[in-house]
Amino acid sequence: MQYETMHIGFDDTDSPRRGCTTYIAALLVEKLSKMGVQFLDYPNLVRLNPNVPWKTRGNGALCLRITCPMEMDVEVKEAVVSEVEQNSDLEWEGTDPGIVFLTRKKVPKEIREFASKAITGIVTKKKALSLIKRFEAEAVGFKKGRGIIGGLSAIGETLENDHTYELIAYRTPENRGTPRKIDAESVKKMDKETFPETFNNVDAETGRILITPRGPDPILYGVRGETPRAVKKAFKIIKPLEPIERWVIFRTNHGTDAHLKPVNSIKDVKPFHPVIVRGTVASNPKTIPGSHVIFTITDRTATIDCAAYEPTGKLRKIAKKLIRGDHVEVCGGVREPADHPLTINLEKLHIIRLAPRFSYQNPRCPKCGRRMESMGRNKGFRCRKCDFKDPNAKKVAVEEKRELKPGWYVTEPRSQRHLTKPLIRYGKEKKGRVKVELIDCWHSP
Ligand SMILES: [Zn+2]
Repeated sequence: MQYETMHIGFDDTDSPRRGCTTYIAALLVEKLSKMGVQFLDYPNLVRLNPNVPWKTRGNGALCLRITCPMEMDVEVKEAVVSEVEQNSDLEWEGTDPGIVFLTRKKVPKEIREFASKAITGIVTKKKALSLIKRFEAEAVGFKKGRGIIGGLSAIGETLENDHTYELIAYRTPENRGTPRKIDAESVKKMDKETFPETFNNVDAETGRILITPRGPDPILYGVRGETPRAVKKAFKIIKPLEPIERWVIFRTNHGTDAHLKPVNSIKDVKPFHPVIVRGTVASNPKTIPGSHVIFTITDRTATIDCAAYEPTGKLRKIAKKLIRGDHVEVCGGVREPADHPLTINLEKLHIIRLAPRFSYQNPRCPKCGRRMESMGRNKGFRCRKCDFKDPNAKKVAVEEKRELKPGWYVTEPRSQRHLTKPLIRYGKEKKGRVKVELIDCWHSP
């Protein structure tokens, strides 16, 4: 029997009122497995550029990498198309599902590059379609078929470098749309027993449970971690207070900063492209209504505003303490092209070097050591105690202690994007080709 390798990418199936593309992947894992299809990898959940204006909720695309007998080719494709069709919110305007099938062992470099662009910037459907044609892939689009872009991107992001895992547990249909029932204490226990192998379970500042999403989607919770075993261990500790229909472990680019691309100078910052850029603080930060903090950075090429919005919590308080002259690196995206000047929405702040801050004090009396007082503007100082006078004395600069320390500062977990690398992951990045060990990674009713 001859076998073939197939990469199946799909995206843009959900709407704000229902659905979730990961859930379709979970259904397909069951369906295809029962057909005898072999999975070559965990289902891949690939988050694309969070700064594109037309993103779906969370902007996550899916890819299944499988092998099956060649004569099953049509059967597999039909199964995928019908599952996507049945579970997409097709009546919702703006939900435009797309599926891409690529039947070849290796994902071509050009498709990998396309994916990288879709994660860090902007790609077009036209480019996607030309790659699909060139590499003899097949695309199926519903309505405007914009999901083809995400589908091809999910295929192209082979997660060969840094990646993480997420175990997602799904609710039964009758519970969807109702408040999620989960034992909060068990989540805290899980966090204690598995952190830092799992991360972003609980918000340290507020104590809020972060693994449960809000909204009408079918997800009960998702646990993120470094390895499949870590998230499975977590799953065993968490006590759900409602039935779990099914669960799946995904391999993802969550928590890897994959969206952030370093640019050399501030003039290269463009709308919709999340960046890492260095500069010097040009003016002391100001707080604007809503408790948002704005500061400006500059280099030899340009000047740009940076905003730490209220939900960024501690990051906003740190940003507020910056002063003119501080040398920083900022990470974040520019949403609005109409913003003048452009504004980077701060996700992370790297304080590289702090400028000295001075306060100016009256000089001390050289005779008795007491602080002197001014005799008027530019008229020098005199001592009250011994009456020493010095018409030429000037205020003295005293360097003040800064309340900041150089280092990395990140938004609170509750306001982190899916892609934001939390501090706890620094130094844990998986590098080069990492062998992926497949463990039992799904369960269905
Ligand atoms: Zn004196």
